[in-house]
Order: sequence, then structure tokens, then C-alpha cells
Amino acid sequence: MNTRSGSHFIAALISVGANLALAQQAPPAPMPAPPDTKIETDNLAPGIYMLTGRGGNIGLTVGPDGAAIIDDQFADMVPKIRAAVALLAEKPVRFVINTHLHGDHTGGNDAFSAGGAVIIAQENVRKRLGSPQVNPSNNQTLPARAREALPVITFADSATLHFNDDDLEFTHLPKAHTETDIVVRFRKANVVHMGDLFVGGFPFIDGNTGGTLDGYILAHEKVLASIDDNTKLIRGHGPVGNKAELQAFHDMLVVVRDRVARLVKSGKTQEQVVAARPTKEFEQQYGGANFDAQQWLGRAYVDQKRALEMHRRK
Ligand SMILES: [Zn+2]
Repeated sequence: MNTRSGSHFIAALISVGANLALAQQAPPAPMPAPPDTKIETDNLAPGIYMLTGRGGNIGLTVGPDGAAIIDDQFADMVPKIRAAVALLAEKPVRFVINTHLHGDHTGGNDAFSAGGAVIIAQENVRKRLGSPQVNPSNNQTLPARAREALPVITFADSATLHFNDDDLEFTHLPKAHTETDIVVRFRKANVVHMGDLFVGGFPFIDGNTGGTLDGYILAHEKVLASIDDNTKLIRGHGPVGNKAELQAFHDMLVVVRDRVARLVKSGKTQEQVVAARPTKEFEQQYGGANFDAQQWLGRAYVDQKRALEMHRRK
């Protein structure tokens, strides 16, 4: 398929839940990768892989239709991602699916799109990448991303990519890690890329881009209802997981959220909530991977205080 006929082909290939936006390609921008970061490749099912490097874990499908990836880490990782894909696929990446807007999952968009790939994401990814955003790691304002980094096919609630003899089902889970999150389910292979809705420790809830702890927990409930004990779950960060591990992660968050909510309702301050250690029995398993329990509780307090105020306003 050449890139000119691509948009027609894709329009036919994808059944899109809502709107369809198409844009032009841009010239390539080669970037050196840090010499110390390697891409590790794990085979999860026939033709389906997880690539781990620096940034969010990548899902990869290769087969008769070519290659598609879910998330693309950082710009400087693109040559290494391409090299890892080239070991398994004869042709370059045709589709990039973004699980959400964060730069450690979308940083390679510019280069992949310049190389001819079509970027697909929930419509809020395009909205947010196309305007200045707060960098969640240091609260500084990031400028809008270049035009070629923006998804060209977007949808509101769901879409399906029929590719390599499987159906890749994209489902939007609103107000969870951000307001842009999707999970990607390989219906036949029974593999799900969870994006940052499943990570190895206490999860980051990005309130600046519409994330909420309550929505994060609801997202798990939707996913748990659609998978089984054999489903392989690609975490946004961390090792491949399964349903029991997602259930345990979800149950932990429900317990902690309910405790924090109760403390917030009774008028406790942030310091008092942190001091009460509502994360106590979970700190060994979930602490430290992203946040220590104190940092995370500070954020959970702010989240639940906001949730309470929203509830009272209704
Ligand atoms: Zn993220």
C-alpha cells in the first residue's frame, strides 16, 4: 500500500465510532537513541509482541498485513524500535495506536508518521497534543506537538482495526489515568494493551488532563468484565500481567480510595490522611515503582477532595 492510497484504504478498513480526521505526512526527523537503552522483545501470542525500552511498553502485531504498534515511547527511541520491528516484519510500521497522550507513549509519533505510519487515537489525544499541555512530571507547560505528531484517525468511544487476521478493538475509558485513555484488545489472540490503566505500582492519576481515581477504578471494572483467566495484559509500565493481577490491583485501589474518601469526608487534612497510612498493607507490593505511598496519598487526597466537591455541587 502506498501512502497516497492509504487514507482510502484505512477508511474502508476501520469501522470508526465517531469522527474521522485525516492529515498530511511530514518529512522525517532522525534522532539518535541513548546508547544504553536496549529494546527487549517478548512474544505473547503468534505475531504479537511486547517491546520494552525506555517509556511505555509497546504492543506489536506483525503478519500478512504488515506491522502495527501500540504506543511509541520517546522520539530518540524510534531507531531502536524500528530495528526491533525489522527483525520480525519485512515492511515498516503502518499504524501507530496511542493508548493516551503522555509523551512517554507518543514521543515517537512525529518520526513514525514521517515514515508513512497512520496514527490512531481517541479524539482527546488529538485535541490535547494539538494545544499546550502541562508536563505531569514537572508541572511546566509543554508547547503543542508538531502537526505530524497528531493522530489522523480519531474516535470518541470505540473503533476496530481489522489487521493481521485479528480484530483490534479500541475502547475509550473516560476520566481514568487521563481523559484520553483507551485499551486495545486483540479479540482473537486474547491480549489486551492496558496503557497506563495498569502499571506495576501505585498508579499516576493525571488530574491535569482529566484523570480521576474513581474513573480509573471504573475502567478496571469494564476491562475485567471482558477478559478471562487466559488473557495476557500488557501493562503501560511493568511486566506482562493477567486477570488475577489486575483484579488485585483494582481491589487494592478500591480499599484505599474508600479509606481516603472517608477521611476526606470527615474533614481530615492532607497531612492527616497521609499520616493515617490508608495504604499500609499494600505499600510493600505497590510502593516505590512509580510513587512511594506518601507521595501517592498526597495525590489521592487532592483527587478525592475534588471528587467530593464535584459531588456536593451536583
Ligand atoms: Zn501515562
